[in-house]
Amino acid sequence: MKATQFFISTLKEAPADAEVRSHQLMMRAGMIKRLGAGIYNYMPMGLRVIRKVEAIIRDEMNRAGAVELLMPVVQPAELWQETGRFDKMGPELLRVKDRHDRDFIIQPTSEEVVTDIARQELRSYKQLPKNFYHIQTKFRDERRPRFGVMRGREFTMKDAYSFDRDPAGAAKSYDAMFTAYKRIFDRFGLAYRAVAADTGAIGGDLSHEFQVIADTGEDAIVYCPTSDYAANMELAEGVAPAGGRPAASQAMVKTPTPGKATCADVAELLGLPLSQTVKSLVMATDELNEAGDIVKATVWLLLLRGDHDLNEVKAGKVEGLKRGFRFATLAEIDEHFGCKPGYLGPIGLKKPVQVIADRTVAAMADFVCGANDVDFHYTGVNWGRDLPEPDLVVDLRNVVEGDPSPDGKGVLAIQRGIEVGHVFYLGTKYSQAMNATYLDETGKPRLMEMGCYGIGVTRILGAAIEQNHDARGIIWPEAIAPFTVVICPIGYDRSAEVKAAADALHDELRDSGIDVLLDDRGERPGAMFADWELIGVPHRVVISDRGLKDGKVEAQGRRDEAATSVPAAEIAAWVK
Ligand code: ATP
Ligand code: MG
Ligand code: MG
Ligand code: MG
Repeated sequence: MKATQFFISTLKEAPADAEVRSHQLMMRAGMIKRLGAGIYNYMPMGLRVIRKVEAIIRDEMNRAGAVELLMPVVQPAELWQETGRFDKMGPELLRVKDRHDRDFIIQPTSEEVVTDIARQELRSYKQLPKNFYHIQTKFRDERRPRFGVMRGREFTMKDAYSFDRDPAGAAKSYDAMFTAYKRIFDRFGLAYRAVAADTGAIGGDLSHEFQVIADTGEDAIVYCPTSDYAANMELAEGVAPAGGRPAASQAMVKTPTPGKATCADVAELLGLPLSQTVKSLVMATDELNEAGDIVKATVWLLLLRGDHDLNEVKAGKVEGLKRGFRFATLAEIDEHFGCKPGYLGPIGLKKPVQVIADRTVAAMADFVCGANDVDFHYTGVNWGRDLPEPDLVVDLRNVVEGDPSPDGKGVLAIQRGIEVGHVFYLGTKYSQAMNATYLDETGKPRLMEMGCYGIGVTRILGAAIEQNHDARGIIWPEAIAPFTVVICPIGYDRSAEVKAAADALHDELRDSGIDVLLDDRGERPGAMFADWELIGVPHRVVISDRGLKDGKVEAQGRRDEAATSVPAAEIAAWVK
């Protein structure tokens, strides 16, 4: 591919509404173009990445035995009324009417339609198990679309649905998907964790989220470095563990080393014996301006005392405490805690509070502590604007250490993550609501056991960039890079030798199946290099008259400090 035949459009500055690096870089690199809130054009450079992501997903889904189909974006309301979700789903579900005044929805997910297919097509036990998947446009009217493709309103998802004869079969289907997901995220080259997730109304323990590790992630995950335990904080509940170390000093205020806060540090800050500092919960409340942008985000850090009964906490019976992590307004928090309206706000704000910040919710917390019996503290986070220097900083991003974890084996650590995939055992929730049965060996109708499995195709782009970038731009993992190698000739239009060498290398790489782009735009070297560093192509080859005198070209990996001189003939091997 030659650059002049393709479409390249880079920007010096990111638009002001792009808050996180991935959004800024995708806009600057010309990968996406905003059409409306949470709605983007996928431009040619971005679409190449999306297609690579899709190809890997498709490959692994097929390998795992799933069958591809394609279900419509616009779906009749009747099916959604059968499960009750047409009414229950709230404003995230986009409802539309056709010219005959009939109700339709724009699909946010496809359980209803796929169950409708299954009840018509899968009639005998002999046809089970079956797993149908598609890669399709979704629409969710998110309350706060943000971070570019990471939380869009229109986005692409791979969603798969398994149908089995019984729970044991469903568990097998689940495991097959779990394994496929691990292969998929390994192939993407991303650092991720599979974490136990909330099963909500369905219950049981078969729900996992695949979380790409990134400081800007909206989810908090807690894991044990020495065991397999990993869970979404939503599920893990209080995580700062109990007991064990000597009582902390009664100092009212202390500054621990930024970047690491142990449970003991926090206890000391609060002037509490460690044994009484058992759990922490984090919540955020954002203030929005009229356009719906975040202008301020606030984080609550709640430290529970050791004498709180966990079951009462779970049941929401402990005043001032709430299960899990979620975004909420102050009013919602009050309501959730069963407090009088305005209760938490004033109490938190009575303390001398310092707003501190980072782009991560709860990334850094500024504690100002009160008396021994204070069981929660206010901390603030501002999203990178007008930051005063805080007096006290506790960075909760990395570690909250202590004694045994929920599974009793070792210490716990907290990380932030981006939910890129979710596997979920559904049981008979949908088959029951829609009467999806098959006939067993004895000819008796039985409800199908289902599972659903999503991957946020477009969100992967944002997540990959959050994890892989530097000051100059994106650093794509090779498997999903828009191009694997870019040839940058210096003097393509002036030097016959350079042109011939560049063309020959381009053809050679292309013919050996390498995704190569030749930059024939005639840009000055500095501007040309800056573009490709921004776009994040993993390999760059610079061809100039000077190097060609010795039969050499300059090869440089996107993460390399400097280029190395190599014979042109060795480039294919270097790329592979
Ligand atoms: P979230 O908690 O981030 O709102 P979700 O739990 O609502 O996600 P699922 O219903 O589990 O999402 O959908 C499967 C996958 O689709 C998610 O794991 C995520 O990768 C992706 N996804 C969900 N909502 C969005 C969105 N608004 N924009 C982009 N991708 C999304
Ligand atoms: Mg959601
Ligand atoms: Mg979620
Ligand atoms: Mg989910």
